[in-house]
Amino acid sequence: MDVDRRGFIKIAGIAIVGLLAAKPIFDIFSRTEAQKNVVEAEAPTQTKWGMAIKIENCKDGCTECIDACNTIHNVPNIPDPKHEIKWIWDKPYEDVFPEQNGQFIADKLKGLPVLILCNHCDKPPCTKVCPTGATWKREDGIVMMDYHRCIGCRYCMAGCPFGARSFNWVDPRPYIKEINPDFPTRTKGVVEKCNFCEERLAKGLIPACVEACTEKALVFGNLDDPNSDIRKLLATNYSIRRKSELGTEPKVYYVV
Ligand code: SF4
Repeated sequence: MDVDRRGFIKIAGIAIVGLLAAKPIFDIFSRTEAQKNVVEAEAPTQTKWGMAIKIENCKDGCTECIDACNTIHNVPNIPDPKHEIKWIWDKPYEDVFPEQNGQFIADKLKGLPVLILCNHCDKPPCTKVCPTGATWKREDGIVMMDYHRCIGCRYCMAGCPFGARSFNWVDPRPYIKEINPDFPTRTKGVVEKCNFCEERLAKGLIPACVEACTEKALVFGNLDDPNSDIRKLLATNYSIRRKSELGTEPKVYYVV
């Protein structure tokens, strides 16, 4: 028994010394893994689509981006404002950013038309309240709508703090000037909103509004890529987001 106990202690001692000696090797291995993770984090491993709007580039009265979006997406032009359908539109700066209104707001910003659209929030409250899964956030950050799954409960509209969604109170089809057969029309009782032109992105195209803007006021790209145009723009300019205090993490930035 004594010999066995001595033998056991000897073996255990050797094992402990061995482990202590090996620890630095484990540390080196761990550091290597950590360093590898840092390198991977710097590279754009995924896509998170976002938009930046240079608000001072927008010409007063210009509707190029709005017209392009409406035409491509069969957005109806319903004269009754109560039934209006909007994907991208504008409002005066003071209305879009009421929290920014100081007593002495810069003259250049007073009444400036500012484009608004779905922010494709990173933490979208609208998707959480949909009982049918008709709206959801994709891996690339686009907040989608499935018109066929929408039951018209409008919970998503109540959940959106930006008023970015519209409800079809009437059949929209008679109010579409010329139907684009490449994009679905919607029906009465369905909610709709901007989709960041996901159907164009799938073909390698940029959103229609961005393409249509001759003033280059809209910049679209991958927020996860530090070398993308949108990241470079945001890195070198001051920008704000709508109601950022609510924590929905809007992915539409306004360069002011
Ligand atoms: Fe949802 Fe509104 Fe955010 Fe768009 S802006 S993702 S509709 S909460």
